[in-house]
Amino acid sequence: MAQLKNIGELNLIRDLMNRFPTAGSEVIKGIGDDCAVFKSDDKALLFTTDIMVEGVHFLSETKNPSSLAKKLLAVNLSDVAAMGGRTRAGLLTVALPGETETDFWNEFIKVLSDEFLSRWIDLIGGDTSSSPGPLILNLALIGTADIKNVIYRSGASEGDAIYVSRALGDSAAGLDLLRHDEPGFERHAFERLVTAHDSPRAEEDLGPFLAKTGLITAMIDISDGLTTDLSHVAEASGLGAELYLKDLPISDEAKSLGRILKKDPVNWALTGGEDYALLFTSRESRAAELEKLVRENMGRDIRKVGRMKAAPGLEGVDAESRFLLTGRGYEHFQPEGE
Ligand code: ADP
Ligand code: MG
Repeated sequence: MAQLKNIGELNLIRDLMNRFPTAGSEVIKGIGDDCAVFKSDDKALLFTTDIMVEGVHFLSETKNPSSLAKKLLAVNLSDVAAMGGRTRAGLLTVALPGETETDFWNEFIKVLSDEFLSRWIDLIGGDTSSSPGPLILNLALIGTADIKNVIYRSGASEGDAIYVSRALGDSAAGLDLLRHDEPGFERHAFERLVTAHDSPRAEEDLGPFLAKTGLITAMIDISDGLTTDLSHVAEASGLGAELYLKDLPISDEAKSLGRILKKDPVNWALTGGEDYALLFTSRESRAAELEKLVRENMGRDIRKVGRMKAAPGLEGVDAESRFLLTGRGYEHFQPEGE
């Protein structure tokens, strides 16, 4: 009998898209971007939701209520930022095993409420159930933006410069570090990588700033890995892309761990996922202006890592050669052979 694990997450979502065509004239974007976009006068309402399941997204042995609260919020904030919006409100849905300790739950709620309060986000509802198995946490967020500023995955053109907002691969390196337990690894570096994995930061200020510059053509957050998320932008825009591997920003900490574990940190950057940096595109002719605006207003440097091209597919480019990038990030229900 056919089983879901052989179908693949992307195929499941594609099937949902076909079976639920959007009819409402207020729906500007349904399934297929970081948020759904709903029109309300000249404002866009942005909707996103993400789930975290014990045993899939975090391990029972190491689950930490504070990190879980921060990560649950960050992964959702990141999707709102990737559309160029700001988050206003949220709905929290949980399925809790009866054995969950009250201290664990209280700490989770305390941290989540502090995070909400500090950003002026309101918790406006949700749902609560017991769970006969794993702890399941789901957050849905509602964001807003001016309709004219919303940035989609589909807006890139041939020749556009591809940027990432910050170093990639720290989260994957942090996960490797937790798995390998390298006692000799320098403490400060350990903390940077493990924190990147446990409590990632969303680009909640940069996303709306970029959108308002009017210089961004497409945007996505890097949740599944650079190659997978760039391929979403390329496919949605009807294009391909090339990545300059030597220009990928990689932290000194990830490089140093790569030397110890004898792993190439470029692979963490390409396929690791869970970085929650932003990937975005800009016309090449406006690229210098964009870099200057971000430096002057946000005090940081964005990194040009590639170029959109007409031919479909992703290519890696290094000093010696060009090659097809087939490495994929994490996909649920990975179909066999893919
Ligand atoms: P992201 O990584 O940005 O959170 P996903 O890969 O989870 O995005 O989802 C891709 C798209 O598919 C999004 O538009 C999301 O809303 C939609 N989607 C995922 N799962 C479902 C579902 N069960 N029902 C409807 N839409 C879904
Ligand atoms: Mg996303």
